[in-house]
Amino acid sequence: MITRKTPEQIALMRRAGRVVAEMHEECRKVARPGATTLDVDRVAREVIERRGARSNFLGYHGFPAVICSSPNDVIVHGIPSADVVLAEGDILSIDCGAIIEGWHADAAVTVPIGAIDAESQRLLDVTEASLWAAIEQVVEGRRLGDIGAAVEGLAEAAGFTVVREYVGHGIGTAMHEEPQVPNYGPAGRGMKLKEGLVLAIEPMVNAGGPETETLADGWTVVTRDGRRSAHFEHTIAVTEHGPEVLTLP
Ligand code: MG
Ligand code: MG
Repeated sequence: MITRKTPEQIALMRRAGRVVAEMHEECRKVARPGATTLDVDRVAREVIERRGARSNFLGYHGFPAVICSSPNDVIVHGIPSADVVLAEGDILSIDCGAIIEGWHADAAVTVPIGAIDAESQRLLDVTEASLWAAIEQVVEGRRLGDIGAAVEGLAEAAGFTVVREYVGHGIGTAMHEEPQVPNYGPAGRGMKLKEGLVLAIEPMVNAGGPETETLADGWTVVTRDGRRSAHFEHTIAVTEHGPEVLTLP
């Protein structure tokens, strides 16, 4: 079922979104060479507790942490670990969410660890730009396919590929609601966007091929060719004034 949210409900999602933005700010500060991905998870947990929020990641189908931490060739769903030590030149996707009064927000960012090579920086820049191009489409009357086509167009023009097995989603009183929001087109097709719809849009862009593989832990999704992948996400509401990004500071 696809639900549309009232302005009051969107206001609660905005509060959850601000908590998520603060989690990302704190995570960025500790995501440095020598830190572990468990260190990054710990600061995200502290923000959740400080703000009186709940985590929508912790315990999700048994997921053991507050963030997904996905370095380098890990696309999504990496599990924070004291054994994963970040090194200069790595990239790290940090994906997390929060619940306030039953309302969810969800966002991801991929950060450089120290100085990174130019090709990795270009992957980050293109993936983030593809998210913002998609956000521009979150307007009443546009269609789901316009969102995916915006991501795909930018990523492929840059010589990268878009992951197809994992997609964005509606969000509200659950983290994952209908509709699914693919990161590929065609433009002009799919459901029409209406005021009150809230979507988590999350392009996953690979430097090499689009194929994915899940590791034996049942969570960690990697690129099959071992090349790097970037992931950016925001929670966005369709409003009468256009797209409102709820997961900004
Ligand atoms: Mg997410
Ligand atoms: Mg999501």
